[in-house]
Amino acid sequence: MLKAKDDLSWYARKADGLRGPCAEGPGAAPRARGLLDALKAGGVKGSIDERTLYTRRLPPGCRGCLLGRGTNLYVTGLCTRECFFCFNEKPRRDEIVAHGIRVENPGDAAEIVERYGLASVGISGGEPLLFPERVLGILRSLRKLPRRIRVDLYTNGDRASEALLSELKEAGLDSVRVNLVANGFDLAPLKRALRLFPESAVEVPVVPDLMEDLKRMVLDLDKLGAPFLILHELFAAGAARRAGSLLWSPVQGAEEAALDLLLFALKRTRRLSAYYCSCLTQESISRRGLARRGRAL
Ligand code: SF4
Repeated sequence: MLKAKDDLSWYARKADGLRGPCAEGPGAAPRARGLLDALKAGGVKGSIDERTLYTRRLPPGCRGCLLGRGTNLYVTGLCTRECFFCFNEKPRRDEIVAHGIRVENPGDAAEIVERYGLASVGISGGEPLLFPERVLGILRSLRKLPRRIRVDLYTNGDRASEALLSELKEAGLDSVRVNLVANGFDLAPLKRALRLFPESAVEVPVVPDLMEDLKRMVLDLDKLGAPFLILHELFAAGAARRAGSLLWSPVQGAEEAALDLLLFALKRTRRLSAYYCSCLTQESISRRGLARRGRAL
């Protein structure tokens, strides 16, 4: 249960931002509508209304999150990159935040995961591998819990050496999610991750200006045998959001670009499973999380 002294970070404020009247989801622009029709005709799975769509199967780490039982363990705000699309607060702060609650020690994160009965955890940042000991500390404490929690690590791959990935595996990490847009489409860290974590995924914002690179990446991933690609709409954070929505809203053309790439993956890949986790999906997950939190308070 949330305690009065808990310090809420962006994650919890995201849910609090939904307390106002609910905005209508964006009506599908004509081009988006055409893409949705083509995806439906091609056999895409999931929900058209919530824009939660996937081509073959859902990444295992997404299941708990979609049920509203996932969370984010934020290891640091510091990073090795300065992506224009980064939604972390600036100036960057080096802090550990578990499920919206600032903690002093990495090991305390497990107590919070247990307190809220969470099922899956994404270790993120910033770049979490700037502080391997924190990540290892979190993993070891999670693995002491009586229940098995699904744990994925988000990284841009810059510090994902083979030796560190092995240590993470040993400590109980389930899978790695590499942001290839953040690292300039460098496949090397993903290849290293796939050797140890066969369920590794690539998770990227669909930047409309990078469509050619993104389509090439889809084909490369399929050739490589990477199992999962997770696509997000490019969004604007802060004041640019629409009323009653999350702390972010998709930028113009973001949905069309994401649907276009999903359709490309549907038609042109043989093994890769592409999943579109949209801003509407995130809103729906956050509303469920908020309702759960309301019940817990
Ligand atoms: S790699 Fe991730 S955390 Fe780092 S700047 Fe880019 S988006 Fe932000």
